[in-house]
Amino acid sequence: MRVGLLGGSFDPVHHAHLLLAQAALEHLKLDQVQIIPAGQPWQRPALGATPEHRLNMLRLATKGLDKVEINPIEIQRTGPTYTIETLEALETKNKYVWILGTDQLTNFCTWHRWQDIALSVELAVAQRPGSTLTPPLALSQWLKAHKRTLLIIPFEPLDVSATVIRQRLAQQQSARDLLPEVVEQYIHEHGLYRPLTA
Ligand code: ATP
Repeated sequence: MRVGLLGGSFDPVHHAHLLLAQAALEHLKLDQVQIIPAGQPWQRPALGATPEHRLNMLRLATKGLDKVEINPIEIQRTGPTYTIETLEALETKNKYVWILGTDQLTNFCTWHRWQDIALSVELAVAQRPGSTLTPPLALSQWLKAHKRTLLIIPFEPLDVSATVIRQRLAQQQSARDLLPEVVEQYIHEHGLYRPLTA
């Protein structure tokens, strides 16, 4: 199988994540997309929701979506989340494509063992407002030297981020337009992303 991998914190999952998974399935001719929520991302501070809540929201958001699966491998592992360790633990019979937005492409060369990541998967990028489709120089040079190409996923830039959702919710504003209704309900029911009260 040709499998797309979409990693991230999904804190919470939103419309752009789901549209990106669909666009990747369609344009990269994938058999499946696996969404991989991070355990504790090592490059950023503690997340707003627990791994269990983030996983539950993803399950609700992708219920009924054909060919989109959730892979909890990084949440089940303890310690910081390194993408390369995830890739090394995946089934070897499949071919993998790592899907990412341009914001992640920009900092790709800061990822732990990024050259090993680029060796073990194809990279496919989607435009995100505020960052460019041009890879960082070190990655461009690496791709050229290894005769590899960066796949581009045609994607209408969408101004949606989990950061904005968390900010809106912390200010008790609605984020309804940015994420699926089932996720919004879950957040409400569990009191997630609320402002800290004294
Ligand atoms: P945060 O705002 O908390 O950093 P996020 O909205 O960037 O979160 P992540 O879970 O970090 O969401 O993203 C997972 C993957 O989805 C990353 O590869 C990211 O680039 C991509 N992605 C997220 N939002 C968009 C978007 N609006 N357009 C394109 N790609 C996106």
